[in-house]
Amino acid sequence: MSSTGRVVVVGAGVAGLVAAYDLARSGGFDEVLVLEGSPEVGGKLRTREVGGVRVDVGAEAMLARRPEGIDLAAELGLTVVHPATTRSGLWTHGSVRPLPRTLMGVPLDVDELADSGVLGESALARVRLEPTLPDSDLTVDRSVAGLVAERFGPEVVDQLVEPLLGGVYAGHAGLLSAQATTPQLVALARQGSLLDAAARLPRSDAPVFAGLPGGMGGLPAALVAAGGFEVRVDRPVRGLERTDHGLALTVGSTHDPQRLLAGAVVLACPAAPTARLLADLAPDAATELAAVESASMAVVTHAFRAEDAGAADAGGSSGFLVPPVEGRRIKASTFSFAKWDWVRSAGEGLLLLRTSVGRHREEADLQRSDQELVASSLAELREAVGLEAPPVDSHVQRWGGGLPQYAVGHVDRVARVRSAVSRVPGLAVCGAAYDGVGIPAVIGSARTAVASLTQAQ
Ligand SMILES: Cc1cc2nc3c(=O)[nH]c(=O)nc-3n(C[C@H](O)[C@H](O)[C@H](O)COP(=O)(O)OP(=O)(O)OC[C@H]3O[C@@H](n4cnc5c(N)ncnc54)[C@H](O)[C@@H]3O)c2cc1C
Repeated sequence: MSSTGRVVVVGAGVAGLVAAYDLARSGGFDEVLVLEGSPEVGGKLRTREVGGVRVDVGAEAMLARRPEGIDLAAELGLTVVHPATTRSGLWTHGSVRPLPRTLMGVPLDVDELADSGVLGESALARVRLEPTLPDSDLTVDRSVAGLVAERFGPEVVDQLVEPLLGGVYAGHAGLLSAQATTPQLVALARQGSLLDAAARLPRSDAPVFAGLPGGMGGLPAALVAAGGFEVRVDRPVRGLERTDHGLALTVGSTHDPQRLLAGAVVLACPAAPTARLLADLAPDAATELAAVESASMAVVTHAFRAEDAGAADAGGSSGFLVPPVEGRRIKASTFSFAKWDWVRSAGEGLLLLRTSVGRHREEADLQRSDQELVASSLAELREAVGLEAPPVDSHVQRWGGGLPQYAVGHVDRVARVRSAVSRVPGLAVCGAAYDGVGIPAVIGSARTAVASLTQAQ
């Protein structure tokens, strides 16, 4: 087989595996090969046993209101499940209160917001003023905090937007791009009052989130099982250059590197390694990607005996978020046992739940031993929901540089990256660094990358 009939995908996270799956089905290449630097496939989709129950220790749900994830699951013959409860809490002002309905932190019902006790009287009065304000200037991208604080005041940002963005991006509303991270808010703000535009949104009972029984960590294995491509793990790609015969990859350890030729390459790894690989081939794209910062975090999962953990079971909530202004270590807790029926049944007599720690530019919080992370997670769970019982098992999963940060101007940056990459024949990029960090958006980016290669053939 000629090397030009081979396409190599770098990175076996969900982006790389979806790209490989589509490339194999496009019929455009003789061989589809995925090279993964670590010992296992899946990237941020990963399960581990905690208390003998295999649960997600990375991503654990996907948006159901975007089609890409649900459609892929159906294509793979996977059953999709929805959370058993959609209620969530906010640990603020000394107690866990019901999280009022919002659109990325923008209140959808001011009376419900008032009842929640999350905002004080003057902050609520400021929210009610929003429809009387002049339209916001949306001619240029701005930070989410800039837009929301201008319309609703800083307390809405601190109490509602920050915890939601902390959960999804591990980022700060003052740094994240409104256009890239909350495009729905920007679209609504173009209509004038955000409060009025949000009130006009049709109410839907369709589930917002979906998961897979056994965990989102089952998706990578299902993609590999669907076949049509080969995956090699422990194969970090260290270099990429153009030759007269196509693209040449340098693969493997530094003391025993191998060279592999390919007609096309899809880079499906995070921004930093992609920047390094593009340094010679597409220096403009490399410079842009090198400027994309990332946030590190850790997921601390505990298994409690159900009979010991009664207090956490209260309320049937799926967990709670924590506004950063509260000065806590944990930024969220997911009561997996309450959220997912499959977790509750898999963990006979056990309650599994997780907390997450770590925000952008706050790496110091993670520079502690696993034991310390477990201890502070338990101490805060005790304070938040009165969970006194010792767990039967705990697990710490660290995600160094786990989430890219979409700074103001990100959408334009990505357009410049794609333009520079498109000037290299046979090259495409995809993954969480581009069009959204959520699983459906990442799948979408992989499908865009494959389309760009197959259309160019
Ligand atoms: C803790 C956490 C919780 C999350 N929760 C959710 C959630 O509930 N719902 C949701 O929708 N999203 C969630 N996300 C986001 C989502 O999981 C990720 O954005 C998505 O999985 C990223 O997929 P990816 O393929 O782009 O990248 P990755 O999963 O990072 O995969 C990239 C792969 O490339 C490999 N690689 C890197 N460099 C090289 C190299 N030089 N050579 C070869 N291989 C290389 C890596 O080892 C990795 O396997 C979460 C993320 C984190 C960190």
